Amino acid sequence: MGREFLNLIDISTAHKIINNLFKEIYQPPKIEEVELEDAYGRILAQDVKSPIDLPPFNRASRDGYAVRAEDTFKASEDNPKILECIETIEAGSIPRKKIRRGYCSRISTGAPVPEGADAIIMVEYTEEEGDKILIYKSAYPNQHIALKGSDISKNDTISKKGALLSPEKIGALSAAGITKVPVITKLKIGILSTGNELIEPSDDWNPGKIFDSNSHSIAAAVKNCGCKPKILGIVKDDHRELQKAIQSSIRECDILITSGGTSAGAGDILRDIIDNIGEVIIHGISIKPGKPTLIGKIDEKLVFGLPGFPVSALIIFNVFLRPYLMELSGKSLRYKYVRELPLAQRLHSSKGRVHYALVKIKDGKAHPILKDSGAITSLADADGYIKIPKNVEILEEGSIVKILPFF
Ligand code: AMP
Ligand code: MG
Repeated sequence: MGREFLNLIDISTAHKIINNLFKEIYQPPKIEEVELEDAYGRILAQDVKSPIDLPPFNRASRDGYAVRAEDTFKASEDNPKILECIETIEAGSIPRKKIRRGYCSRISTGAPVPEGADAIIMVEYTEEEGDKILIYKSAYPNQHIALKGSDISKNDTISKKGALLSPEKIGALSAAGITKVPVITKLKIGILSTGNELIEPSDDWNPGKIFDSNSHSIAAAVKNCGCKPKILGIVKDDHRELQKAIQSSIRECDILITSGGTSAGAGDILRDIIDNIGEVIIHGISIKPGKPTLIGKIDEKLVFGLPGFPVSALIIFNVFLRPYLMELSGKSLRYKYVRELPLAQRLHSSKGRVHYALVKIKDGKAHPILKDSGAITSLADADGYIKIPKNVEILEEGSIVKILPFF
């Protein structure tokens, strides 16, 4: 034990390796069909075409009378045109009579326009006298008619591959009668916490114990990336138990994320286990916090051993997992709320490692949060983090920093 990190690699090398692994193992993403009612927030895996014209027939878009526009030409308040009403067409019914010169049909919004008619006169501009209808305003052809196929034509694309299924998109799909859509299958991500000190969060606290927060923060982060988390529980720092847990977990998921036990100290047995049953690819990255990060492969699936410290675990997740998970889920990484603000106080960084420092935004300035990376509340308080390059030792008060949000 007490083994040092033999191959501390820099962030860009780690990214190259991880990127290649993701491509090799998880591309192209799998596709599944889901019911439209379960499709919200999913990513469409193929273009979807409309099986019908929309609207499926020429449809009245006002209540009134279906007429031949030319029968109404020159109609006015003083000089109404008189037409004879031959039918009432309700929404959902089918017109039976054709409109010939001098005739009209009463029609409701949403009902099919009868043959022969090419305009709708709004009921407001008419008056009924028995079956004679007085028309007080002239209509132009296609007035108040939604023409068949004018919304979308049969075989036109309603929604494109890669689209995020939003309420509007789901509305358009169902308007075309679609009930199932092909979407990108969510990656299933197993989450294991390791440590003799860990217990499930509850009302009961035991001396010497710590509530497992990583399982829950990571599960939420996994969901945020469009993947499906599976919390697999807490495992003791025991070689046999942990090995067994990892072996059975890996069968249940596409990617396994563990936290804790990645250092080179006594009780940190993860490396030996991965060595034993798979392959260690990265152990130790030149980053702060999160140096003792371990990335390995078991049975052609990736295992990410995040450091146990809650802040380190989430920062490593953000830096080395989130971009790739987002890409695979079809949710491209967009830092919408990147802000550039002056630093509120001088900040010391560690030379030789890229430093991710948490900041809180207050009074238009970025205030560094100086608690250690075990302090989960520092993360919960933070508005984001700034990235300090590895050759920078001190950032002066007032220097402009770019604040990246976590999620
Ligand atoms: P380790 O990486 O196992 O050396 O753990 C580093 C620190 O993180 C220790 O103080 C652990 O108690 C703490 N820690 C490890 N795992 C968790 C967890 N799942 N939830 C909260 N704290 C943890
Ligand atoms: Mg531990």
